[in-house]
Formats: sequence, C-alpha cells, structure tokens
Amino acid sequence: MDTDVVVIGAGCAGLGAATALRDAGVRCVVLEASDRVGGRAWTTNPAALGGVWFDMGAVWLHDAENNPLTPIARAAGDTLLRSDEIRTERTFVGDRLATAAELADYDGAAGRYAAAADMLLAQHDDVPLSAIARALPDDPWAATMEAWEGPVICVVDADRFSARDWRDNALGGSNLVPDGGVGAFVARRCATGLDIRLGTPATRIAWNGPGGRVTVDTPRGAITAVACIVTVSTGVLASGAIRFDPPLPASVADSAAALPMGLAMKVALRANGADRLDLPMHCSVDRQVRAGETLMPFQCWPFGRDYVQGWVGGSVAWDLAAAGEAAAVDFALSQLRGLFGGRVDRLFAGGGHLVTGWDADPWARGAYSTCVPGQSAARRQLAEPLGDGHLLFAGEACHVPFASTVAGAWISGQEAARAAMRAVAGSV
Ligand SMILES: Cc1cc2nc3c(=O)[nH]c(=O)nc-3n(C[C@H](O)[C@H](O)[C@H](O)COP(=O)(O)OP(=O)(O)OC[C@H]3O[C@@H](n4cnc5c(N)ncnc54)[C@H](O)[C@@H]3O)c2cc1C
Repeated sequence: MDTDVVVIGAGCAGLGAATALRDAGVRCVVLEASDRVGGRAWTTNPAALGGVWFDMGAVWLHDAENNPLTPIARAAGDTLLRSDEIRTERTFVGDRLATAAELADYDGAAGRYAAAADMLLAQHDDVPLSAIARALPDDPWAATMEAWEGPVICVVDADRFSARDWRDNALGGSNLVPDGGVGAFVARRCATGLDIRLGTPATRIAWNGPGGRVTVDTPRGAITAVACIVTVSTGVLASGAIRFDPPLPASVADSAAALPMGLAMKVALRANGADRLDLPMHCSVDRQVRAGETLMPFQCWPFGRDYVQGWVGGSVAWDLAAAGEAAAVDFALSQLRGLFGGRVDRLFAGGGHLVTGWDADPWARGAYSTCVPGQSAARRQLAEPLGDGHLLFAGEACHVPFASTVAGAWISGQEAARAAMRAVAGSV
C-alpha cells in the first residue's frame, strides 16, 4: 500500500498530525498497535467503581485557555467541567488538619520554591529538582513542594529530574475536565474522518528508500509513504520494539534516554457505606511530608462520586507496580489510615478498587516522559526531522512548554505534519 504520510500511533500526537494532514488534503494512514484510539488518553467505565466514567490516563486539559483541545471541545458543544472551581482542599499535618497559620505558610510555599529555583537556574545551566528544596532548609513546606512537583506531578523522584525542564514547562491557567472523560472526548472529537488501522503495530521502519521514501512493516503487511511521523512514547522508542533501517542516529537514542518514562499510579477505592470521612465532594487531600517521605494525595468523592482516588508517582510507583495490585491498595489504605484512622478500613472493606498499570502497557511503558538533569534540550532535539524531513518524531516528550500533556502531544503532532507536508510537496 502507498500513501503520502504514514503516522505511527493514534494517541493525541498521531491524531493531531493526521487531522492537520486531512485538513490540508494530504493522504495519510495512521497505524495503531492497540485496539483503540487515544493512547494515554483513555476513558473506561470500570465495574469496580460502579460503571462511572474513569480516565485511566490524562484527566485535565491543563492551561485550558491556551490548550488547543479546548476550542475543539467548545466548538463541538461539549461540557467542560470546571474542576478547579468546585475543588475543596484539606491539608494534614500529622493526623490533624493544618491550622490557618500553617495553611497561610503553605500558600506561600509555591512562590518561595519557584524563587529558589530561579535563583539556582540563574547560577547553573541546570540542577536536579531536589536542589531546590535543599536550598530552602528552614522552609517547613519545601519537602512537600518537592513531593508534589517531583513524584506526584512530574512522576519521577526529584533527584532524577531536571529543574530547568520543570521550569520550562510550568503551566498556568485553568484545568478543565471534558464531561465523560478526556479519553472519550479524544476518541469522539479528534479521530473522525481519519484513516486509522487498529491492531497494526509498526515493527520496522526503512527510511532510506528512493527519494527519501519510507516503508513501514507491520504484521498485516507493509505501507510505503513519502514521510513517516513516529509518535510512540520514549519508552517504546527506547525498547527497540520498532527496528529502524538504517539505524537511527545516536541523537535520537540519546534524546529518548534523556527523556525516560516516569510512572504514576492511580489507586481508586470505592466506599462501602455512607461515611464520607467528613469531607465535601471533590475534595483534594494532601499532607505535609518530611524529606524522603512519600506523598500520596487523594481526590475524594470526585464530582460527588462514591470513591476516593490516590495518586503515587516516581520510584514508589514503580516499586508498587512490581509488588502488584494488592500492595498498591494496601499502600493507599495505609496512607488514608494515617489521616483518618481505623474508620478507613470499615469504609473501604469490600467496596471495590481499581489500580492503573501504565508500567505494564507494552505500547506506553510508563506514564509520561521525564527529563534527566542537564538534558532539557532533548525535547527539541527529539523533534528534529531526519532524512531530509521524511522521518519525523512527535509526541508529548517533544514539546515545550506543554511537555507530558495531551496538548503538547497534539501540537507536536501538528508541527510534524507541517514538516511532512513540506516533504510531500518536495516530492511532487
Ligand atoms: C496516569 C496519567 C495521567 C495523566 N494526566 C494528564 C492530564 O491530566 N493532562 C494531560 O494533558 N496529560 C496527562 N497525561 C499525559 C498524557 O496522557 C500524554 O502526554 C498524552 O496522552 C501522550 O500522547 P502521545 O500521542 O504523545 O502518546 P500516546 O498517547 O502514548 O500515543 C502513542 C500511540 O502509539 C501507539 N503505539 C505504540 N507503539 C506502536 C507501534 N509499534 N506501532 C503502532 N502504534 C504504536 C500506542 O498504542 C499509542 O496509542 C497523563 C498520563 C498518564 C499516564
């Protein structure tokens, strides 16, 4: 089979690329290894949580005012839930709620943390994220900030993460949730009118054909195109699951190694009774941690539902993933017990649970890209066209400032599509 552009992967980057190509009238085929579109934007309706919609991966449209998916949702008339506005917060210090004075101090912690980061980055090209908290030895909230910004948000331990990359990708604005889930929204609104072949993994990409043409082998046959856009995660790229012929230049392997996958694990526990732990609906619960302690924040009774959802990231998430689902549930229960005591055991006994497993997904191999200290240039380097623009890489790992998000994936896919169009135009 022959086409203009072949896109590998039907996640947000692949769909963004294919949409731009479709709009420009360029022939495009998307090859997707799994049996669904959306990649790490994936909504399910787990029976363990009563069948309500649940995003296994992405939840929020971050920086919604600048997020390219927001206007798509609005144009389609989709409801965007104002998660920030309905959220309430509870912070614990030990087993009690933080006092008003402690909360006021905590409110200022983000500013102090950012200022310390800016000071360090003015003096050094880059430092590990962990250097920021160390620069605030007397700040009672510095370790909590580090736990949030490192393992929780950036899904990697702070000593393994680039402070420069963290600063480059700091997003503002509001966080909106498409009603029904991000994954369902992406599948419904971002994949229409595209030629997508599900269950068709790319196994080999030959990118030295006549005139720069690219041939992609799959178990279902080969496809030849003027240009190829590869949108698989850096974990898949580094795994060697796709063989490149000729082998990729070292710059690509180096970039993938500089942007390794981090892991986040969601653990949802459904209540088996009327107790709601004296928390209002859609309540975000965290606690003050000391250096080295694990923070597992919980979203309790999201949108008024009957479950709580814990989130753990970084090396603890990898360890729990290796230990298995029961260990992850035990860990979440122990964290809740530390805050609410023994009533937690009565409330969640027999209530059903869900644990996400992005580590075990062969088409993702983790949650999203992180960035090794000193390697923040790798995101742009990975997006550099190869083979005179006939072989392109896109995906969440390739974008700044929307790294690791559905928005970054979508934009990077569209940018790669424009480069592919130039290759197609040049080949005519
Ligand atoms: C737990 C979790 C929470 C998150 N929360 C948010 C959030 O709230 N907001 C946000 O913006 N982002 C969030 N993200 C990140 C977001 O989901 C990703 O950044 C984004 O979806 C990545 O899109 P992508 O197209 O780059 O990659 P993917 O979605 O991984 O798409 C790549 C596609 O390639 C396919 N593929 C892999 N190998 C092959 C092959 N050999 N041949 C063909 N196809 C292949 C895969 O199956 C996949 O469909 C979260 C992610 C996780 C895991």
